[in-house]
Amino acid sequence: MLFLGYIAALAVAVSPISAKPYNTFDGDGFPACHDVASVYEATSVDDMVSVVKKAATSGTPVRASGKGHMWYDTMCSDNPNTIIIQTESVNGISNLVLEKGAESGTVDIEAGVTFLQLAEWLHDRGASMGYTLVNWNITMAGAVAMGGHRSSIREDSMVAAGVLSMDIINGNGDLVTVERDNENDDWLAASTSLGLLGVIARMKFKIYPDFKVFAQQKILSEEEVLDGDIYGLIAPYATANLWWWPYLKKFHWRYYDEVPSTLSDQQGFQNTFSLTDFEAGIAKTTLESGKFLPSSNWFFETTAFALWSAPNFKEKTTWKDITTWPVYGWNYDVLIGGLYPDQKPEWDHGLHGYTLELAFPVASTYRSGINIKFGKAYFDFLGQVTYDTLDKADWTKGAIMFDFPSFHPTIGDGKRYNEQFYIKLATTLIDEFPARPHWTKNTREVFGNATQNIDPNHLARFKVSQYLNAYTSAASDMSGEFERRETEPLTKNRLCERSYLVQGMTFNIDVAAFGHEIEYQSM
Ligand SMILES: Cc1cc2nc3c(=O)[nH]c(=O)nc-3n(C[C@H](O)[C@H](O)[C@H](O)COP(=O)(O)OP(=O)(O)OC[C@H]3O[C@@H](n4cnc5c(N)ncnc54)[C@H](O)[C@@H]3O)c2cc1C
Repeated sequence: MLFLGYIAALAVAVSPISAKPYNTFDGDGFPACHDVASVYEATSVDDMVSVVKKAATSGTPVRASGKGHMWYDTMCSDNPNTIIIQTESVNGISNLVLEKGAESGTVDIEAGVTFLQLAEWLHDRGASMGYTLVNWNITMAGAVAMGGHRSSIREDSMVAAGVLSMDIINGNGDLVTVERDNENDDWLAASTSLGLLGVIARMKFKIYPDFKVFAQQKILSEEEVLDGDIYGLIAPYATANLWWWPYLKKFHWRYYDEVPSTLSDQQGFQNTFSLTDFEAGIAKTTLESGKFLPSSNWFFETTAFALWSAPNFKEKTTWKDITTWPVYGWNYDVLIGGLYPDQKPEWDHGLHGYTLELAFPVASTYRSGINIKFGKAYFDFLGQVTYDTLDKADWTKGAIMFDFPSFHPTIGDGKRYNEQFYIKLATTLIDEFPARPHWTKNTREVFGNATQNIDPNHLARFKVSQYLNAYTSAASDMSGEFERRETEPLTKNRLCERSYLVQGMTFNIDVAAFGHEIEYQSM
């Protein structure tokens, strides 16, 4: 197998280029990379090592990809020689250590392991991954690479917070181990690496005894939230978020926490992204017409609000609807869940979205958004919730994240009814606040502008990571893009001006190597 992998690696490295797009989960017409030479479906860690080694000898750019669960064309630079190493089939889970009565333990996972796969594997063995959960159709390595997180102020909720060590295939094709250590710049770079340090091949992950949780949801008026104590609504709970329905001037306030396992026999399972054909048909017709008619968007918001006021949960043992809050069940099922049987995810129904996600210090006064999420402070170089940064903002209380998902019309030019609103929103928020992007939920343009808010000291320390240097010396462009092209005059923004002058140097980050995030729903 290793030999076959070697031959295949050689083939991908020397084959003539027939550049083609590599698509996101949205499929054709939604490229994560515009032009790649080939997509290599790896079968083992050794196989991935062979591919990178061969690629390094010819200076072929490499990118890892899990499930392509991202929104924009920000996975690759536009080098048509790029090869994608698809990690999906490298998904072993082993070495569970969880002593009886222990508070936590560890497990080893390979690059392609998804949240759902690990959650089920652990549940069968009386364990769980705590609150470091993101979504079902995502690899854990992909989420760690891009600084993925769930919504919590109280608990560690960056996925990287659960990583105890990771094995990265550097640009020479060497498998190197980076241990969690906040005194070590290599760790702080690897903790949110944007995939630029190489392929995350394996991780040792922290796990916990299995536990049950409740989910509760209340409806609040705009005044109760905007003039109220947002921190107080979120911080007491293990995980919590707010959904803003701006046409209706209401919020859904959703919160979750642990319950004694004997409290309820209910096994609630949350619907995330699944729709029946009928529901999808109505949604698509309404949302497509929303490109031209604001009334369609108001109608959609009103309908979605009514539907989402009831629990979006079924009882897992019978697949019957659960109709009252709170809902109880095993942690993963309640916090994430997934598809209902016989239903398809939104994107397989042709319902596509744009998104935009930015993080602000919780202490910020600006309040806007649709899906409002939160993140506990966590120190690394490029994460959304890092702190002690040159912007002097107080990030130690955590971050408030405005996530603006919006419908992506498939008719006409594909632009939204209020396209300019989103562009102005992103520009203004980034220029006026120390906003940081989610690395797979924003466009290239947003990244280009948002780099003004990334601490230049952190960038400098990221750049001198010995691992990054190894990639540079191997001529792999895993790190090459970190020498970003910059066209905007950096002086246009006060924060930017200050930080760049302090450093006396220019940091250029290739926005194409970065991901994106503030989400928006139904405008
Ligand atoms: C519907 C949906 C819901 C989401 N919900 C959340 C959420 O709640 N919170 C949140 O933070 N994010 C969320 N995301 C974003 C998601 O966490 C990231 O986009 C994540 O990176 C996707 O992982 P993936 O396995 O699909 O990776 P891909 O999309 O394949 O890759 C994403 C990036 O990670 C890099 N990468 C992937 N695997 C590796 C690896 N093994 N080594 C090095 N680099 C790698 C890729 O090069 C690429 O730059 C959501 C995305 C979608 C589409």
